[in-house]
Amino acid sequence: MAAVIVAAGRGSRMAEARDDRAPKQYREIGGRPVLWHTVQAFSRREAISEVRVVIHGDDAHLYETCIGSGVAKVGPAVTGGATRQISVRNGLEALGASPPDVVLIHDAARPFVTSTDITKLIEAVARHGAAIAATPVADTLKRGGSVGGGDGAAITDTVDRTGLWRALTPQAFAYVDIRAAHAAAADRDDLTDDAAVAEAAGLDVRLVATDPDNFKITTPDDLARAEARLSQSSPPDIRVGSGFDVHKFGPGDHVWLCGLKVPHDAALVGHSDADVGLHALTDAILGAIADGDIGAHFPPSDPQWKGAASDQFLAHAVQRVAARGGRLLNVDVTLVCEAPKVGPHRDAMRARIAEIIDLDIGRVAVKATTSEGLGFPGRREGIAAMATATVMLG
Ligand code: MG
Repeated sequence: MAAVIVAAGRGSRMAEARDDRAPKQYREIGGRPVLWHTVQAFSRREAISEVRVVIHGDDAHLYETCIGSGVAKVGPAVTGGATRQISVRNGLEALGASPPDVVLIHDAARPFVTSTDITKLIEAVARHGAAIAATPVADTLKRGGSVGGGDGAAITDTVDRTGLWRALTPQAFAYVDIRAAHAAAADRDDLTDDAAVAEAAGLDVRLVATDPDNFKITTPDDLARAEARLSQSSPPDIRVGSGFDVHKFGPGDHVWLCGLKVPHDAALVGHSDADVGLHALTDAILGAIADGDIGAHFPPSDPQWKGAASDQFLAHAVQRVAARGGRLLNVDVTLVCEAPKVGPHRDAMRARIAEIIDLDIGRVAVKATTSEGLGFPGRREGIAAMATATVMLG
């Protein structure tokens, strides 16, 4: 089975909009040319063994940049003709050296053809020999007078839409039949799609109800709509970062933990206020955006951070996220110590962190555990903290 993708159009409606850049099929949506998306839809189908793209004679360089050579299943570009009909005929002839059983003919400017639609067409052509993607007409149809087709054209008739369909692509045919039909129709210029060519040859062509969102990119507005659709469907950029920190005990009567001053029979020793919980959390947030670590942003060698309150480190990390267009989704801190007891302060710690990072308290967790008397936390030599932060960018 083969696919012929018709990309030879010049996009006159784009040009009318005084947009003189590349033809629409080479314009980018979602960071890739429209044609690239369209080719992918077919080339990744196992049942399709060959894809040929029919291009305009002036577009060889654009095509080379877009698809190049060496893309699996995509044969050399075929040069199109003055009309779509001639272009399709050239594409069909190019397959003649090793003719496929079935060919799907598709407009390059319809990148949103779904895998499901292609499957439906493949099944329908196997049963009926010719089938096209289509959607029933849902709008009421009016025939208007000829006042330029614009404002004020008089309605002359309301057209009965019963049984009316919009013809889309892909259109699928037995190869020998559609090739013969195109050869027979070579002297006609009134056939606007391949189904019409097949009908003219007396073939039985079936309508297959497919996704109505398989729209054709024709105008600059269509391009914007396509871009919006791709950005909606691409997965969100979710990042998770982790942080870890340890500070040892020294003489004192309180510790700073998760932004709270907690009475204790020792203090935590450090260059800043030694808030081990906020340090781990700051690193988690910086980690989520791959933006260094707390030591890189606030070097211990810099005297201005001596005794500094650690909430400013945390607030800085949140600003770095915001500067990337991101936002925090949740944070989670675990403190490892025998004492002080964290439980009585847990909710106040959560509230303080929520305040510093401007996040709902329901998205801020503080947990605590001992180390069962083992290791430095068990020997009450210091406190360890671990944290994770989830960030959504874009
Ligand atoms: Mg630290």
